[in-house]
Amino acid sequence: MGESPRRMTEVEYDAAEVAYAESRALVAGEADADERAVEAALRPRTLAEVIGQERVREQLSLVLEAARRRQSPPDHVLLAGPPGLGKTTLAMIIAAEMSSPLRLTSGPAITHAGDLAAILSGMNENDVLFVDEIHRMSRPAEEMLYMAMEDFRVDVVIGKGPGATAIPLEIPPFTLVGATTRAGLLPSPLRDRFGFTAHLEFYEPAELDLIVRRSAGLLGVELTSEGAAEIASRSRGTPRIANRLLRRVRDFAQVRADGTVTEDVAHRALDLYEVDQSGLDRLDRAVLDALCRRFGGGPVGVSTLAVAVGEERETVEEVAEPFLVRMGMLARTPRGRVATPAAWTHLGLTAPAGAMFSAGDEGVRGDQPDLFADD
Ligand code: ADP
Repeated sequence: MGESPRRMTEVEYDAAEVAYAESRALVAGEADADERAVEAALRPRTLAEVIGQERVREQLSLVLEAARRRQSPPDHVLLAGPPGLGKTTLAMIIAAEMSSPLRLTSGPAITHAGDLAAILSGMNENDVLFVDEIHRMSRPAEEMLYMAMEDFRVDVVIGKGPGATAIPLEIPPFTLVGATTRAGLLPSPLRDRFGFTAHLEFYEPAELDLIVRRSAGLLGVELTSEGAAEIASRSRGTPRIANRLLRRVRDFAQVRADGTVTEDVAHRALDLYEVDQSGLDRLDRAVLDALCRRFGGGPVGVSTLAVAVGEERETVEEVAEPFLVRMGMLARTPRGRVATPAAWTHLGLTAPAGAMFSAGDEGVRGDQPDLFADD
């Protein structure tokens, strides 16, 4: 090891981002490789630069400060929350704040325990290992990770059958930062090995407003405060979407207007891109539409719903639903997904008499299903 850990240079940082972007499986609603590269320029690089997530920021800064004082790597950190809220950003900041090199990988890239062993055996002391979508790692790799997290060693199995031997391999102390959109899917032995779990929340419009202005500054986009507010209010509480909408609105402003993003420009651009006033995009509306028009408001299983809109179940569950639930338009019940009165209203429809929630129902009553059940 010998070398003391150092801060990544800009070039290494960007190269890590691009390599990571290229390694990722494409999940709709997430950023693709090009977008990831653009996002690199917009990422806050220190905890102080992060907008919103006050509680997580404070908790994390304590964890990091304590580790610095002990001069040991911080506890393993789990970052949980829907896509685009800043999990990767925070992982990069953890490494930067600890002046530690960062290694990036993702659950779907680790299909065998051997893949993980290869990564772990190349680690140096104090490295930060970021595993995105950690809930999608293979089971044998997950089991290897338990031991690596707790004892900083793994058993590498060589050969097969009766002749197989397990060779113990020491790993220098490192920090694992796991990110997941589905904390509930993590087996508890894995969850329990994280010293700290941060639950990221959707952002308030005022915070998104600041994010849009900051990004506009970095991208050199002129925008009025009404223009920023219009983008922020349609961003579904998600910084990635705010940044994405800003770029689309900028295109519109440059081609169809004088380049400045005003309220009117933002409004027309977002209508063109089919992002409605509540921030619902095509997928959200397709889900609601299928739920109401094809399944009479539900209950309907999420897999059936996903087939009806031609998407992966995971995309519907992780990208569309959290927002629709948050908007009070969709309820997850033990019997399936159900449209709420707000959904019918949003689509300009009237709920049929037999619908589980019909028009006029006000909110949730005691005899209604468990809205927070997972399926
Ligand atoms: P996730 O890993 O949760 O999908 P990312 O960390 O990739 O999300 O964030 C997506 C984009 O949103 C990044 O480019 C970053 O610029 C922006 N972003 C996320 N969180 C914040 C924040 N708190 N303040 C400013 N920008 C943010």
